[in-house]
Amino acid sequence: MSGLCAVCGLPKELCVCKKIMAEQEEITIREFKKKFKMVTDISGIDPKEVESMAKDLKKELACGGTAKDNIIELQGRHTRKARAFLIKRGFSPKNIKS
Ligand SMILES: [Zn+2]
Repeated sequence: MSGLCAVCGLPKELCVCKKIMAEQEEITIREFKKKFKMVTDISGIDPKEVESMAKDLKKELACGGTAKDNIIELQGRHTRKARAFLIKRGFSPKNIKS
């Protein structure tokens, strides 16, 4: 027997738990003014993925940004593009509040 998923009990090759987890994560995207500049905050990303997600977002949107306290902060206004990016990554549109 190859392994069964501990969560759903299906063989690992049929398991979609990881995908379902991404679909259930609630993401919040917020734009606001900080020190006279607009920034876009994205919160709700899995803490294990925050760093790499921030890196990919900065590359995709060609902007500066940081990942701190599990919140990604991008410089500029990026709600629409960030949202499209997250959907492409498997997040469910209905769980992205913006
Ligand atoms: Zn599973």
